[in-house]
Amino acid sequence: MHELIKAYGLTQKCQLIESIAANESQLRSFHSEEYLNFAKYISKELLTQTDDQMNDDFTNEEFGIGYDCPPIPQLYELIAQIAGSSICAANAIITKKCDVAINWFGGWHHANKDEASGYCYTNDIVFAILHLLEKGFTKILYIDLDVHHGDGVQNAFAHTNKVLSVSFHKYEIGFFPGTGDINDIGFGSKGKYHSVNIPLKDGITDECYVDIFKKVLDKIKCCYRSQVIICQCGADGLIGDPMNSFNLTIKGYSQCVEHLISFDVPLILLGGGGYNILNTARLWTALTACALNEQLDNDIPDHSCFLEYRPTYELLIEAGHRPNINSNQYIDSVLQKVLQNLDSIK
Ligand SMILES: [Zn+2]
Repeated sequence: MHELIKAYGLTQKCQLIESIAANESQLRSFHSEEYLNFAKYISKELLTQTDDQMNDDFTNEEFGIGYDCPPIPQLYELIAQIAGSSICAANAIITKKCDVAINWFGGWHHANKDEASGYCYTNDIVFAILHLLEKGFTKILYIDLDVHHGDGVQNAFAHTNKVLSVSFHKYEIGFFPGTGDINDIGFGSKGKYHSVNIPLKDGITDECYVDIFKKVLDKIKCCYRSQVIICQCGADGLIGDPMNSFNLTIKGYSQCVEHLISFDVPLILLGGGGYNILNTARLWTALTACALNEQLDNDIPDHSCFLEYRPTYELLIEAGHRPNINSNQYIDSVLQKVLQNLDSIK
């Protein structure tokens, strides 16, 4: 991804900010001491154990470390780097270094206070939001475009009205993480109506997705005056992703991000899932261009990874023929309920 962004000459048009790892006290603002100690223990233990010993030790999924999130060397250091990267992005917005901050290394939306989950050992998005709250921001809009529900972020802020969390995701029995029902709207007198869930089904097209996205976001623009927007741009809703779910293309995602840019509110763009790595690289390159208001040639420029992009050697991808299971009636009913709930935000 970085090579592709460079090949298009976009890095020269960005201000590059070096990421700083989060320190222990920052990490403790979200994670429990027990979880961080366990991560440190893994970092230390893995230096001395064989693979077999290691696998035997982590079969009970303590703190979520096991199958989805295997023990890995330097786990604690990785957590500190991931968390720190989005704190730096938030800081760039706070200090007004830029209007749009991008961290494609971020977007690890599933991790909880004391639990790794869904490939996420930490939740950089929560750290970015906590940093903004600490600096006095009181209206933060979080949007999650990943095909999976943004459960970790929603859980962390389900009781507050200072964060409005909006997730567009596939919702189907057996599909990870299994949360994100339309009736899941937040808790307590402050949090109620500040979790917004848009459960979707397989095969959704750009046209349908962008339409529902704009209607929900335009409503939010009226009822919640966000001071900053954070958008997780997980690429696993793209056609061709091994998640095999939505029928989205780079154009659909770009229209959503362009719409957010048009709000003229400071914006943080983050990465997320994306298991067809070439299409993920294509998407995040195209979204970097959106942020810079640059038009990219559809022919991928020659660079060190050029041959990987065969057979098309093109930036954009075509929609597939997967049937759209979301009927107009279903989408209308989801929209009606979501917009009605948003009416209750004061
Ligand atoms: Zn995902």
